[in-house]
Amino acid sequence: LSLHDALPISTSTTMASFNGKQYLVGGNWKCNGTKESTAALVATLNGAGVIPAWVEVAVGVPSIHIASVIGTLRKDISVAAQDCSATGNGAYTGELSAAMLADFGVKWVILGHSERRVNQGETSALVATKTKQALDAGLSVMVCVGESLAEREAGRVNAVVLDDHMAALKGKFSDSEWARIAIAYEPVWAIGTGVTASPEQAQEVHASIRGWLSKNVSPAIAKATRIQYGGSMKGANAAGLLSKPDIDGGLIGGASLKAEFITGVCQNAPEPK
Ligand code: PEP
Repeated sequence: LSLHDALPISTSTTMASFNGKQYLVGGNWKCNGTKESTAALVATLNGAGVIPAWVEVAVGVPSIHIASVIGTLRKDISVAAQDCSATGNGAYTGELSAAMLADFGVKWVILGHSERRVNQGETSALVATKTKQALDAGLSVMVCVGESLAEREAGRVNAVVLDDHMAALKGKFSDSEWARIAIAYEPVWAIGTGVTASPEQAQEVHASIRGWLSKNVSPAIAKATRIQYGGSMKGANAAGLLSKPDIDGGLIGGASLKAEFITGVCQNAPEPK
């Protein structure tokens, strides 16, 4: 029996069920795109073919392109932001609040990406605060967690992923809020490097994250929460990763800028049995 059996659908506001599972595949366009290249990417994705019904898809769009992409992108792909403010509206120059994103029709926000943890110094506590802001505004959140190569080599995977990144989320959200949270396990050493965690390496950490959720939130939330893998995921390795029992989707950087995002990743997600 997989952990997804007998998924309590009523805990989720967004999720359809295919034998208790609907994958979540997120794209992350990062800081890329002119007006022209973004329109071309939308046209590519719009023409890339059918997305299986058991795959939910969202793409993380640079903020300045969100309004145009929401108006032109196929409706079976929702739009995600790549960050949001830790505060609401008000005297916060340069910030973009979760409420503004929701007002524009954004459905998801990617929070705690390792590039922001490293480059902007975002702490796990800040990521938790932003997650609350996003949930309060009605958004769903992909919270990114993951260890660096040095941390893995020092045997600190659980110390970083569970005791720091996940621990900051403990006791902060209701069950109905957890139904709008996905966890993206993204080993930093696999992001943008072409090095992918093996399906077995990823499955091991995904199982520990689900175990953490079971112990620290609830067994029902652990079953229902989608845990995505991110790190050089592409058409060639998607099926192997997505067939593991605790890998419920992907978060894809480089390959999300190509038709392969649909034809190689989404279309290779095995139908849940
Ligand atoms: C990412 O940025 O979340 C990511 C997984 O990137 P890539 O797929 O390019 O490794």
